[in-house]
Amino acid sequence: MDLRNKIRSVQNFPKEGIDFKDITTLLKDKEAFKECIKQMANKFKNEKIDIIVGAEARGFIIGAPLAYELNAGFVPVRKLGKLPSDTIKYEYELEYGTDTLEMHKDAISKGNRVLIVDDLLATGGTSYSVAKMVETLGGEVVGFDFLIELEFLNGREVLKGYKVESIIKY
Ligand code: AMP
Repeated sequence: MDLRNKIRSVQNFPKEGIDFKDITTLLKDKEAFKECIKQMANKFKNEKIDIIVGAEARGFIIGAPLAYELNAGFVPVRKLGKLPSDTIKYEYELEYGTDTLEMHKDAISKGNRVLIVDDLLATGGTSYSVAKMVETLGGEVVGFDFLIELEFLNGREVLKGYKVESIIKY
């Protein structure tokens, strides 16, 4: 099945000049959603993943079924102020200003084999931030698994040294 046909491109969203890759058209299709998770799981099925980490919100949608498929646990990364217990924080640069991501301090145990998941790799800033938090907590980042990669933004360069996989490239 060609999953690329299931992605909707929306021009100038959320602002002028952005070609937004909308995955809701893939997610609502039961065959396409299943195929997407199967293909993403295949890339890391021999890696003995303990934990999948996904950032809100689309990292949850892809990350949870992928964790189930790979017999791994799921750990959410959230925007500042959403997680109830003790957290580790990571502030990162946006085009204008900064944003802060958080994860629970007890979410990762030392030596856990961790796979970081998101719907789309753009600049790599989000995924890099998640990796740094995982490593601070003693986890081993086995790699990154994306549904979509925007190759012209060179996010792979930011993640160099890690195994980076994606299903659909633009
Ligand atoms: P980045 O940190 O630049 O790699 O951005 C990754 C995050 O931004 C992902 O969680 C994506 O969901 C979102 N994102 C960035 N660019 C796009 C795009 N063109 N279409 C859809 N989502 C995007």
